[in-house]
Amino acid sequence: MSPVNKFPFMPRALSQLIESFRLLPGIGPKTAQKLAFSTLKMSSEQVKDISNSLANIKSEIIYCQYCQNISENSICNICTDNNRDNSIICVVEEVMDVYVLEKSGAFKGKFHVLHGSISPANGIGPDEIRIKELVNRVQSDSLIKEIVIATNLNLEGEATAMYINQIFSKSEHKIKITRLARGLPSGSDIEYADETTILHAMGSRVNIDESL
Ligand SMILES: [Zn+2]
Repeated sequence: MSPVNKFPFMPRALSQLIESFRLLPGIGPKTAQKLAFSTLKMSSEQVKDISNSLANIKSEIIYCQYCQNISENSICNICTDNNRDNSIICVVEEVMDVYVLEKSGAFKGKFHVLHGSISPANGIGPDEIRIKELVNRVQSDSLIKEIVIATNLNLEGEATAMYINQIFSKSEHKIKITRLARGLPSGSDIEYADETTILHAMGSRVNIDESL
């Protein structure tokens, strides 16, 4: 927290809260001020609840040891669900994408969250995202027969899809690699796709060599 009070005309606690809100995406100075003043009007109980929720998001959430999704336990609810198809893994960039796909009901297999995409321009190579974990998982689980790559349809997402395809085309454990493509607008993030589009794209997924 900055020791400098950016707004010396207001109490330090208030100006610090404004600065904290500004760290959130999409929050400009005016909204941050509005949020801080609204917080001031809340009951102590409500403020404590918000404060606890903020602290818990770091202390109670860990990453699933299999799929790298966020979880309260070492293995997440999706990975422990016996009603899901163990033979297919959908690879996504971010945790949000898991929720988008889950909401659409389009996919009943397991997931793998990369936590980013390959982006040489930003200094992010394959080692900076969780590709190694995917490779280890697939190599140690003979039940896995297909990987659906659902990275975003932009430069970084395509580069990531191509890299994953290359790795598995050289691997001894032969699996089918497909890509969500049809119906999703080019350049778009999976996160913003609507449920019908996701359903359609999952249903009509194509072999990766036909989509790249
Ligand atoms: Zn999991």
